[in-house]
Amino acid sequence: MPHAHRPFPFVYSVPVPLHRVTHPLVHDALATLRDSATPPELFRRMAVRISLLLAAEATRDIPVTDVQVLTPLGPADGRRISGEVVVVPVLRAGLGMLDAVLELIPKARVGHIGLQRDELTAVASRYYSRLPKRLDGSYVLMIDPMLATGGSAVAALDMLTEAGARDVRMICIVAAPEGIELVEKHHPEVHIYTPVVDQCLNEHKFIVPGLGDFGDRLYGTS
Ligand code: URA
Repeated sequence: MPHAHRPFPFVYSVPVPLHRVTHPLVHDALATLRDSATPPELFRRMAVRISLLLAAEATRDIPVTDVQVLTPLGPADGRRISGEVVVVPVLRAGLGMLDAVLELIPKARVGHIGLQRDELTAVASRYYSRLPKRLDGSYVLMIDPMLATGGSAVAALDMLTEAGARDVRMICIVAAPEGIELVEKHHPEVHIYTPVVDQCLNEHKFIVPGLGDFGDRLYGTS
């Protein structure tokens, strides 16, 4: 039941496919990511760890095919992923989650979307897009760690749906109520996987309490 403990006041117009990931290891990694004393090298490691766990959750229902493999002791039944997965990091912060997803699904194809957030208005403008073909038959994992205003998420989701994507799952590490609401309004079919929905945005459109600027903390550029 994804909405059982919603801490924020508004009511969604339709049930949002919001998946709160409650695994203790996810929340342990998140606490380290939030801690302002965490240096970039540890921040990167925790970003990889949490992304692995979130991606496992977001791919729980992708199709598999029955196979048989030979163990040293004989044949064993198994299952292999048969659904085609496309991973799309939203630049730049989404890149910090990409290796983790590829570690889980090495055959995934990768698209990139570049969006520039205006520091003053927080409006996202497109500067780069390179997406694989046949998105319509693929399970698309859009990775963007901070779902803040939702402006860049909606812009990226617009690009994905224009390119034919039908099954899109968005994985983020911290979400704000405002971002979820905007995604719900424009793309109600998109499933959002997040460990937390934080309190609000501040006047600079940063998530409170959040974890600061994800890209800056990942790359040490603050
Ligand atoms: N992007 C970030 O990196 N952090 C926020 O809090 C919001 C957007």
